[in-house]
Amino acid sequence: MDTVSETTWQDELRDAFRKPSELAAFLDVSPSRLPPLPESDTFPLLVPRGFASRMRKGDPSDPLLRQVWPDAAESVAAPEERLDPVGDLSARKAPGLLQKYASRALVVTTGACAVHCRYCFRQNFPYDESATAPSRWAAQLEAFRSDASLREAVLSGGDPLILPDSVLASRVADLESVAHLSTLRIHSRLPVVLPSRITRNLCRILSASRLRIAVVVHANHPAEIDAQVASAVGRLREAGAVVLNQSVLLAGVNDSADVLERLSLALWDAGAMPYYLHALDRVEGSSRFRVADADGIRLIEELRRRLPGYLVPRFVREIEGEPSKTPVG
Ligand code: SF4
Repeated sequence: MDTVSETTWQDELRDAFRKPSELAAFLDVSPSRLPPLPESDTFPLLVPRGFASRMRKGDPSDPLLRQVWPDAAESVAAPEERLDPVGDLSARKAPGLLQKYASRALVVTTGACAVHCRYCFRQNFPYDESATAPSRWAAQLEAFRSDASLREAVLSGGDPLILPDSVLASRVADLESVAHLSTLRIHSRLPVVLPSRITRNLCRILSASRLRIAVVVHANHPAEIDAQVASAVGRLREAGAVVLNQSVLLAGVNDSADVLERLSLALWDAGAMPYYLHALDRVEGSSRFRVADADGIRLIEELRRRLPGYLVPRFVREIEGEPSKTPVG
């Protein structure tokens, strides 16, 4: 019998915090001790209760809370910030299909996520309600079929694991029918923020595939990784997936060697390999999270002194038009 069920994660998602006042009350933090909220509600608060339960009660500076608390500072764009900081729009190969690099292309499967990260570079992407429409998927699949140079399909978003298993199973089957594809990569924050999403049924879909599977999760701070997250990563690995982690270097969250060291060790214990540490993409209103490159380089040098090389993530930046992620430093 399944120990986790699809109903459970969907119920958890429905029950997520959507009102800042309710999250503040849950954390025993007076709203007066938190940054003032933006006037606009275009990218509203969204936090699963399980993720909120990993925040420190009574601490308005908690690093997990800082990632999700809407802040009036988001309304102010610095001159170098952009709505589309990494050139997603100019990389469109078909509606909802991006190709920036050789041999792989990325499907923007949905605009929905289980959490709204305030620094998200894709928060202004023109998702539309037809993102999962059959006609759109047919065009994306045809783009994979007609380009034999593509070896890897990347399902991203939003968060692809927010889609029902039936849709995911059908996407995986369609991609398997493209003979030149060998790898399926899934970019998802759900194993971290809503680990119950990694159901046995989802794992069955992944393990039955002829494609090699990489799941790239997204954790920024060691406190995000608890026993449930480790268990979810374990289920993905048992299903045959390689599990990697990408983080974003964020001021006030993980801009310290101690935190990054503990993050790498927690990932290793959970079974996920540290992969990328991204320099923050300059999306509008994100400057409170920015860390100077020189500081990031110093942090990585310190990690190299403390950790084996396989636990030191690559510090990179995405630059529009470049043929790969660009190493910083
Ligand atoms: S889960 Fe990923 S896509 Fe969704 S808001 Fe967070 S960073 Fe953006």
